[in-house]
Amino acid sequence: MTRPEIPKKPVPPYPILIRDTRVVAGFGRGSSEIGIPTANIPIEDTPELETLPTGVYFGFIKLNKPSPSVTPEPEIKKRLDGKSEIEFTYGQNLQPKDLSILPMVMSLGWNPFFKNEKKACEIHIMHDFKSDFYGCSLSFNILGYLRPELDYVSVELLIKDIQTDIKIALDHLKLEEYNSCKKQLI
Ligand code: ADP
Ligand code: MG
Repeated sequence: MTRPEIPKKPVPPYPILIRDTRVVAGFGRGSSEIGIPTANIPIEDTPELETLPTGVYFGFIKLNKPSPSVTPEPEIKKRLDGKSEIEFTYGQNLQPKDLSILPMVMSLGWNPFFKNEKKACEIHIMHDFKSDFYGCSLSFNILGYLRPELDYVSVELLIKDIQTDIKIALDHLKLEEYNSCKKQLI
């Protein structure tokens, strides 16, 4: 694959700012099958995500500190497949450093490799979290487009491409014109 050239600063329609959405449960494949966890975000209530072309994007994300008055108690919920269960903590286990503005890569699409039937938005955050944060409220901005969504002959090649996505994203997010977009999330 030849990757599209990425501009040295965000160009319209970016930055796209998405505020106060939340982490939902997926199929649990990110961590278990590829070793790269992705926070799944609902598409239905965000028109920007409904209309954006499928592919891989990059930007910054900020998990919102759970507010004691409106955050539900932790609860166990079923995954999409109805089989396994996960704990929704609503971000109550997060450490202060998890709440800083962090770099991310976002995949929007059908995940051809996994033959999904529903379009999904999944965000991998380049940060080492000590706990999950299902149900957590968050905001993020999309600053650029990395590549189209592809099918792969093996999971190893998929992982290799995601690692390249992460490296390219981090290199660009360091540039002043991208880095200054962090202030949208303060
Ligand atoms: P699911 O299919 O339910 O999204 P994943 O295997 O993709 O399952 O795991 C996602 C969960 O892992 C996220 O919802 C989040 O709570 C947690 N998580 C831990 N570390 C990260 C990270 N670096 N980036 C994104 N999510 C992470
Ligand atoms: Mg996921």
